Amino acid sequence: MVWGTGNQLVAAKMEPSVSETTPGAGEIKLTDSTGQSSMVDPFGRMVSYLRVSVTDRCDFRCVYCMSENMTFLPKKDVLSLEELDRLCSAFIEKGVRKLRLTGGEPLVRRNIMSLIEGLGRHLESGQLEELTLTTNGSQLGRFAHQLHDCGVRRINVSMDTRNADKFHEITRWGQLEKVQDGITAAQAAGLHIKINMVALKDVNADEIEDMMRWCHDGGMDLTLIETMPLGEIDGDRTDQYLPLSRVRADLMERYTLEDIPYKTGGPARYVEVKETGGRLGFITPLSHNFCESCNRVRLTCTGTLYMCLGQDDAADLRAPLRASESNEPLSAAIDEAIGRKPKGHDFIIDREHNGPAVTRHMSVTGG
Ligand code: SAM
Ligand code: SF4
Repeated sequence: MVWGTGNQLVAAKMEPSVSETTPGAGEIKLTDSTGQSSMVDPFGRMVSYLRVSVTDRCDFRCVYCMSENMTFLPKKDVLSLEELDRLCSAFIEKGVRKLRLTGGEPLVRRNIMSLIEGLGRHLESGQLEELTLTTNGSQLGRFAHQLHDCGVRRINVSMDTRNADKFHEITRWGQLEKVQDGITAAQAAGLHIKINMVALKDVNADEIEDMMRWCHDGGMDLTLIETMPLGEIDGDRTDQYLPLSRVRADLMERYTLEDIPYKTGGPARYVEVKETGGRLGFITPLSHNFCESCNRVRLTCTGTLYMCLGQDDAADLRAPLRASESNEPLSAAIDEAIGRKPKGHDFIIDREHNGPAVTRHMSVTGG
């Protein structure tokens, strides 16, 4: 990968495992310890994880994620599956090792399996270490086996409650039974599942322990997520926000939580729960900022690259993608964008800061 402009190296600090070579005048090529290309941001963080929102549409309307009446992107602005494949492949060429498809709901995009199948070739070649997705589970019954056939081995399924009525209230349109059947189908197909649960005060706080036991009994990890101030929703986020530091302290009164170095490439910090033998993750963008170890960038279905979930700065990759059949303009645009990756987000939720930190919804950027 050619990095920087002229002789200038954009990366200020380097990861110890990254080495520079100078293949030609004015070019600095970065490779990791395996000799593959890598992208490093101005704060020395290696960017190896791409999340792609393949659609902003969804068959649910979760209260913390969307308002009930959403205006979705016009279809003409959305990249084709072929274009998404080309973009993802360009990132893999430049050092992405883990690719997560998300949305909106990734499995409601028409013909999505053809994209997943195509991307599977990068697993076979060994360039990509993991191809995975985050899903609400509603379509898993249909797609679980095909996902496994394409090389997907682990998926995240979002489920905030095991109470069918409450599930319907939170998702507005979802049916718990369908998601549970999807999880069963996924496990039967050999997919390892992590359940994502957004912790919501006065809504599901009292179910966390039960959810943890259910997950661990079923061989699934559970990750708890603090609600983040992204996009306008119909309700009040101050009413929903539950600091996970409080949840952890509460659980520690009854369980032995041991910090473990387990990492899935994402922002969760894990503990092992001695009494259940299972893993519990905490994603705490508000009570404990995790930006210092951020290795991610996010691509929307229109080809906009967000270098941080919580900042507005973005780079348009659709124009360079369409400008040429060669990937050179695209590659240069990606380099320029990674060089602008900010240090972190500034999420706050309290009575004075009740509005969104950024106006776009999580479903646009991709959770
Ligand atoms: N539709 C899929 C799903 O629900 O898993 C994928 C997209 S969804 C945006 C990805 C994850 O983001 C889900 O686990 C969801 O619970 C979480 N999420 C959405 N809005 C959020 C918010 N404002 N704060 C925290 N997590 C959020
Ligand atoms: Fe849809 Fe996922 Fe957002 Fe819920 S969290 S509305 S399932 S995109």
